[in-house]
Amino acid sequence: MLHIQQYVKASSLDEAYTLLMKNRNHQILGGMQWLKMQDRVVPMAIDLQALHLDEIKEQDDYIEIGAMCTLRQLETSPILLKTFGTLIQDSIKDIVGVQFRNTATLGGSLYSRFGFSDILTAFMVLDTSVVLYHQGEIKLSDYCKMPYERDILTHIRIRKENILTKFLCMRKSATDLSVLNFAIAKTETNYRIAIGARPKRAELVVLPVSYDDKQIEEALSHITLQDNMRGSKEYRKALVYAFVQKGYIALQEETTCR
Ligand SMILES: Cc1cc2nc3c(=O)[nH]c(=O)nc-3n(C[C@H](O)[C@H](O)[C@H](O)COP(=O)(O)OP(=O)(O)OC[C@H]3O[C@@H](n4cnc5c(N)ncnc54)[C@H](O)[C@@H]3O)c2cc1C
Repeated sequence: MLHIQQYVKASSLDEAYTLLMKNRNHQILGGMQWLKMQDRVVPMAIDLQALHLDEIKEQDDYIEIGAMCTLRQLETSPILLKTFGTLIQDSIKDIVGVQFRNTATLGGSLYSRFGFSDILTAFMVLDTSVVLYHQGEIKLSDYCKMPYERDILTHIRIRKENILTKFLCMRKSATDLSVLNFAIAKTETNYRIAIGARPKRAELVVLPVSYDDKQIEEALSHITLQDNMRGSKEYRKALVYAFVQKGYIALQEETTCR
């Protein structure tokens, strides 16, 4: 069971960060959906709710999303739908249920960088950066490879671009974690493909728009797949190839429709 000894509603990011760094067991609170399942003592829980980090803002060149936005806000955002198609919506809609998605946050999801994360895989194929209070702005694909460092994820920024997208995943039953998840984006110059729940964290490969079979084989051979209780390495490999084909066809069809 989770025991929180002291709760603080931070009145500034500076205060939140100072409190976080005072003790390595102090925790920032997102929606607490993951935290609440843990059996541990948290001497201080730091709440960011008063810091206006729950907005999705459209700027000229990018979209900025606050860390305290819920998954449901992202799923239902007209700005994200208009700019990136159904990618974000499709990566979120199967996560547990609406009540859950009304509390789980973007910050808790991306800070945690879970191997199984559907959201992480979707954001990887966009030109996404995370904004951290102490470490500053870092490309999501780099952040994904970094070890955990205590910091506060305040926002993400996604550059606007002319893009077509598709998200796919395989779940053994509705609301279960993905056996494998997959996102593809076509820009004017390249294809970006992210593969997650490998079962490790999502990895990104980039291919030219006119890629051939040899290039895709070569790119995919660098993605490490493994066994776990949800699926074997061989099953995941078969899914990767099926998703690449399905994703490619979906984007071709969309190009034709435009
Ligand atoms: C039962 C269950 C099923 C799930 N299924 C899926 C699924 O199918 N697909 C999927 O993609 N995800 C899934 N998730 C993960 C979920 O979507 C969220 O990513 C997860 O709950 C974390 O978000 P949260 O807001 O609840 O974070 P919390 O539980 O509040 O926090 C998680 C961690 O992040 C830290 N943290 C929170 N916010 C910040 C911040 N702004 N800056 C720095 N650190 C921060 C906390 O201190 C804590 O260490 C599942 C989670 C659960 C519990």
